[in-house]
Amino acid sequence: MGKGAEQTPAHVYTWEEVQKHSHKNDQWLVIDRKVYDVTNWAQRHPGGFRLIKHYAGEDATEPFTAFHPDQKFVQKFLKPLLVGELATHEPSQDSNKNTAVVADFRELVTHLRKEGMFVARPWFFGLHLAQILLLEGGAWLLLWLWGAGWGPTLLCIMLLTIAQAQASWLQHDFGHSSVFKKTSWNHITQRFIMGHIKGVSAQWWNHRHFQHHAKPNVFSKDPDIKMVKLLVVGNVQPVEYGIKKIKFLPYNYQHKYFFLVGPPLTIPVLFHIQSMHASITHGNWEDMAWVLSFHLRYFMCYVPLCGVLGTFALVIFVRFLESHWFVWVSQMSHLPMKIDHEKHQDWLSMQLNATCNVEQSAFNDWFTGHLNFQIEHHLFPTMPRHNYHQVAPLVKALCEKHGIAYQEKPMGTAMADVYRSLKNSGELWLDAYLHK
Ligand SMILES: [Zn+2]
Repeated sequence: MGKGAEQTPAHVYTWEEVQKHSHKNDQWLVIDRKVYDVTNWAQRHPGGFRLIKHYAGEDATEPFTAFHPDQKFVQKFLKPLLVGELATHEPSQDSNKNTAVVADFRELVTHLRKEGMFVARPWFFGLHLAQILLLEGGAWLLLWLWGAGWGPTLLCIMLLTIAQAQASWLQHDFGHSSVFKKTSWNHITQRFIMGHIKGVSAQWWNHRHFQHHAKPNVFSKDPDIKMVKLLVVGNVQPVEYGIKKIKFLPYNYQHKYFFLVGPPLTIPVLFHIQSMHASITHGNWEDMAWVLSFHLRYFMCYVPLCGVLGTFALVIFVRFLESHWFVWVSQMSHLPMKIDHEKHQDWLSMQLNATCNVEQSAFNDWFTGHLNFQIEHHLFPTMPRHNYHQVAPLVKALCEKHGIAYQEKPMGTAMADVYRSLKNSGELWLDAYLHK
């Protein structure tokens, strides 16, 4: 086949035809009106196979652009998967995607690229890494100098908790490839922070987290709202559960028992089981070696100072404390927002429905790893976080133009909203359970 023939797709398709290919063993995507069969590629996709499936049968131009900073590089992988293009009479977007919103958002991304908003300042991330290493080193030095008495131990736990929480935010930056231009440098740094400093698999995190970004607050796609029947969330699920008479737990009390299951157990129990399980089932020996290096370091540093049991307790307790920090910060931007089944919305509308911001301040930026700018992070996942505050006014203006709500609140309100939304969902469930 000649070069010219290769460039001219042989087939044209309607959206109706494309939408038929949305199953695990038959997945098509549309990117810039071109139709790709990604069924076999999905298993090899570096961002995880589930991620692609979440867009099977629909237009994926916006997430494709948002996740891949080096478009030319990824185009190479797409080329062999091309099966045709959309028929000329078909619109560029499917389902509920608003063409005007898509066009304006695209223009904004082009503008931000020109303004250099996607270029990272390496010293910013270097300082964050230095902060974490100093806290980890300082915590150990405290016990080494003053012994494992109550005072030094408590201070050591405090420093380690701050180090671990800040490491969570920093590994997240590298996971999104928002620091180095070269993807491999981002990966290796993330593995060091996630694997060696935190003792968790970086690949497990990325595969889970990218799904959340691709379809936030969408049932059966976003792992962050998969509550394994422990909680009901949003306004839709509680009513569905109530009507079906599902009562795994008394959900009308979930705003109370959330404090016993969510914040304390997420990191020490759920995340560590998931991380280990994913590494073993995928045979990810590299991540397992990084995690092992974390345990070796902790045991070598702390066993001589506080014994085997003491070291074990130290690790668990730091994780328990960090888990509270992590859960409140990550939930406050999503849980009180709209949570629903797949609606196939455009990128801006979908992200703004599922995400809110917390007010900017030096403390809030540091405490949340700039995830107080959750909206900007979700719209531009590969943007370095030090630029969010510059981009936020432009996003706000675009939302205003299209009548899309842009929510920003004080941190106290945002955290109280987590409690309020759980209470509200529980009441909706009880009402449907008793009366429908
Ligand atoms: Zn993220």
